[in-house]
Amino acid sequence: MAKDTEKSLGVAMEEKLVYKKKNFFEEADESKIKEAFDYAVGYMKYIDDSKTEREAVKASIAYAESKGFTEYNFGDKICVGDKKYYNNRGKSLVLFKIGKDDISKHGIRILASHVDAPRIDVKQNPLYEDSGMAFLKTHYYGGIKKYQWTAIPLALHGVVVLASGDIVDVCIGEDDGDPVFYINDLLPHLAREQVTKPLATAIDGETLNVLVGGFPFKDKDVKDKIKLSVLSKLNEKYGMQEADFLSAELSLVPAFKSRDVGLDRALIAAYGHDDRVCSYPAITAICEDEGDEKTSIVVLADKEEIGSEGNTGMQCGVYEDIINEIAYAFGKSPAMVRRNSKCLSADVTACFDPNFAGVYEKRNSSMLSCGAAICKFTGSGGKSGSSDANAEFVGFVRKLFDENNVFWQTAELGRVDAGGGGTVAKFIAKLNIDVLDIGVPVISMHAPYELISKADLFSTYEAFKAFIK
Ligand code: MN
Ligand code: MN
Repeated sequence: MAKDTEKSLGVAMEEKLVYKKKNFFEEADESKIKEAFDYAVGYMKYIDDSKTEREAVKASIAYAESKGFTEYNFGDKICVGDKKYYNNRGKSLVLFKIGKDDISKHGIRILASHVDAPRIDVKQNPLYEDSGMAFLKTHYYGGIKKYQWTAIPLALHGVVVLASGDIVDVCIGEDDGDPVFYINDLLPHLAREQVTKPLATAIDGETLNVLVGGFPFKDKDVKDKIKLSVLSKLNEKYGMQEADFLSAELSLVPAFKSRDVGLDRALIAAYGHDDRVCSYPAITAICEDEGDEKTSIVVLADKEEIGSEGNTGMQCGVYEDIINEIAYAFGKSPAMVRRNSKCLSADVTACFDPNFAGVYEKRNSSMLSCGAAICKFTGSGGKSGSSDANAEFVGFVRKLFDENNVFWQTAELGRVDAGGGGTVAKFIAKLNIDVLDIGVPVISMHAPYELISKADLFSTYEAFKAFIK
C-alpha cells in the first residue's frame, strides 16, 4: 500500500491517461487569477466603446495606434518590422505585423474574429406616427430571439449621409443624461393568445417598431405633429431631413453597460460579447507581441452574423489581397505563403448551461471558466457547413497551448441535431489556409445581455499570444 505522501498507482495512472477539463479558477495560481481580473477591466472599457462594428473599428484603431501601429493603404511599401492596420470602409479592420522569418516557409499566423453583433437595424424609410407615438420601422440584424428585445432600453448608433454628402455620426442613449428608445411589448393581462404562440412567432418582425417620440409639434395645421417634432430634433442635432434616413445606417443596440456578475465578480455581462470577446484578445495579443520573427495578421471582420457577405465581410477578397500584398513585398509566392499559414478562427461558442442541459452533450460541451474553447467543427445536421479542421492542425494547436500553459478545452455547439451554426473558418479554409475555431464560451448568446467568464476571456488572450509569439 502506498504511503500518504505517495500517489497510488491508479491515481498516478489516471492523472497520466485520463483527460479532464481544468477549471481556471481552481487550478491557476493567484497571480494568474489576478491578471485575469485585471485584463477584464480593459476589455469592459473596450466593449462599452464598441457597440457597433464601426465603433469597434474605431476603438481598435485607437488602441493599435497607441501601440505604434500606423495606417496602411494598398500600394504602400511593406518592410520587416512594420506594424500596420488597414481600415476597410470603417467597418472591418486588418492589423499586421511583419517579422523576419521567410513567410513562404513559415507562413503567416492569422487570428480572425468579427466585430458585428445581432441588433435592430432601422429601415430606410422608417419614421411614422400613430396614436400619440412616433416610431421607427426596423429590420433585425442577425439571429435574435425577438421577444428579448422588447421593453428594454435601447440606444441609437450609426451614421447618416446627408443630402450634402456630409457624414454625421449618431449616438444617443449611452450617456447617463441621454434619452433611450424602446420597443413596446404586450401586457400579460391581454396576452392570453400571445403566450400560447411559439417563441419564434409570438413577436412578429414587423412589430419591432422603436418608440422615438411622444411630444407634438405645436401647429394645428400639421398632420403628423409628433413625427415633425422628432424630425425637428434630428435636424437641430444632426442637420438631418427625413430623406436622409435613405442614406443612413442606424441601429438600435441595448443601452446597457458591461457589468461584473456574481458576488465574486467572476463573470461579465455585456451586449455583444459575440464576438468582441475574441476581437479584444486578438488585438491586445498582436499589439503587445514583442517577437520579431513571425508575421501575424489580425482580422476584425464585419457581417459575420448575416453570413459574412458584403465588402466588409469575411467573404470579401480584401483579406486575401492583404496576404498577397505582403507576399509580393518580399518576392514570395502568395500560394506558398497561404499554404504555410495558420489561422485561428476566433469566435465564441455555446457554453454548457445546466438550465438548458437538454440541448447540450455534456462530455463535449465547453464549460464555463475552463478556458479557451477549441471547436474542431461547427455546422449543423451532420457537420453541414463546417470546415472541420484537420487532426494535424488540432494537434499542432493543442501542443502549442500545452507548452505555453494555456487553459483550453474542447467544445461542440450543442447536441447533435439540436441546431447549429457556423463561423468565418470556412471562408479562410477556402484560401488554402489551415484553420481551427477557438473562442470564449458564452451563456445566453445573441441575447441583448450575454454572459462570459473572466477566466475564459483571459485564457483566450493567452492562447492568442502563444499562437502569434
Ligand atoms: Mn460570432
Ligand atoms: Mn453570433
